[in-house]
Amino acid sequence: MFAQVNKYFDKAAAHLDYPPGLLSQIKACNSVYRMQFPLKRDDGTIEVINGWRAQHSVHRLPTKGGIRFAPQVDEDEVSALAALMTYKCALVDVPFGGAKGAVRVDRSKYSDGELERITRRYTYELFAKNLIGPGMDVPAPDYGTGPREMAWIVDTYATLARGEIDALGCVTGKPVTQGGVRGRAESTGRGVYFALREALNDKEDMKARKIRPGLDGKSVVVQGLGNVGYHAAKFIQEGGGVLVALSEREGSIFSEKGLDLEKVMEHRKATGSILGFPGISRSSPNNGDALEMDCDVLVPAALENVITEENVDRIKARIIVEGANGPITADASEKLLGRGVLIVPDIYTNAGGVTVSYFEWVKNLSHMRFGRMEKRFQERSNERILAGVEHLTGLHFTPEEHERVSAAAGEEELVNSGLEETMISAYRELRAIQKERSVDLRTAAFINAIGKVAMAYQQRGIFP
Ligand code: NAD
Repeated sequence: MFAQVNKYFDKAAAHLDYPPGLLSQIKACNSVYRMQFPLKRDDGTIEVINGWRAQHSVHRLPTKGGIRFAPQVDEDEVSALAALMTYKCALVDVPFGGAKGAVRVDRSKYSDGELERITRRYTYELFAKNLIGPGMDVPAPDYGTGPREMAWIVDTYATLARGEIDALGCVTGKPVTQGGVRGRAESTGRGVYFALREALNDKEDMKARKIRPGLDGKSVVVQGLGNVGYHAAKFIQEGGGVLVALSEREGSIFSEKGLDLEKVMEHRKATGSILGFPGISRSSPNNGDALEMDCDVLVPAALENVITEENVDRIKARIIVEGANGPITADASEKLLGRGVLIVPDIYTNAGGVTVSYFEWVKNLSHMRFGRMEKRFQERSNERILAGVEHLTGLHFTPEEHERVSAAAGEEELVNSGLEETMISAYRELRAIQKERSVDLRTAAFINAIGKVAMAYQQRGIFP
């Protein structure tokens, strides 16, 4: 996977005029720490667990990147994902270096108590090597982990670093009640929606592909209904997209009329599967089948390498929005581009998560909820303006209008607004590079990211 990421890097680097040594340094993974630690299982036996933490680039600190719990993960994958984090952070102007962590476990085979012991011991191993901390390296959720694991991490870290006033900033994606920020859980999926919306609103791009601009009525397929896929599907459906197929581990379901996401989720919760959902036109036990459906938009949001040389010729989507990291291999990507498919790349599309993680980290370092100081003040100012307008015009607003117009932003509104701003500005930067250099969006994204990391090296110099 790292070689795939580097292929994209090299394609973009060919458009840039930096010294080859500098480009090699940007591309290299600075360090990978491999750990093996014991887990005492519930039956008393001891198992050796394999884990990694890769810090791809320390041109900015802290480094940042999720922790993945997955059965097949290895050093190459962690390094590749850490590299994507470096480029992603640069792209959306989040001031972190890139990192990634992983534990090789199939979480379905462990009890909650065992998963807690794995998470805490993994955190301890990082702590012992100075590889976690608010100014050092800040993990987050990724495939197979969520707010619960982040709460265990912060508790372990705060216990070990007793008295460290910024301890809450050692990890992001925490529950809101444990120092998390409102809007983080849905942020990656919301960002995927903004990315798709920006792409579909680009009239020139849509005209070139004979696609009517806008999301309304577009047929959309989503693979993976976890954190990213579920929220992406939710916001896409709310925005007017029609979910014509969904896929999870157990298979794919199809309905040209559109699937009701919440009802599918309820059905899966009740039966353990999306298959058998009533009213669908067909289903398949193959989770890859949904990818091949004829649709306007495909959102792979499960795992990497799901569109490869093997199935690329059967992919019919006109736009692919990469919710997951690395869902398309480099060779398959070239074929799709050759056919005129618009690929909105992962390092931009799923950057909403790290963007809001950045907001959470800032909140933790400031020790205060966003909006707490100014919300009431702002609302009273708005009330005074309304009263002035009423006085001058002799008109009167209804109580509902008063409430709507004078309402000031709380934490969630501020976070969502910051996320939207980030996704819109980043897309505009990408489009400008794409037009100027006549490249695809992924190459534009890499050109943008490499340029920003290179600037950091050039301005700060190489130590020593
Ligand atoms: P998750 O564990 O919450 O969800 C993944 C979902 O995919 C699960 O429901 C799983 O059952 C399903 N799945 C697994 N294999 C599948 C298959 N072959 N077909 C269909 N479904 C399958 O993980 P997540 O956090 O949503 O991450 C998904 C992807 O998004 C990963 O590539 C991750 O690196 C990336 N990502 C996540 C975040 C984040 O904030 N969580 C941020 C950026 C990128």
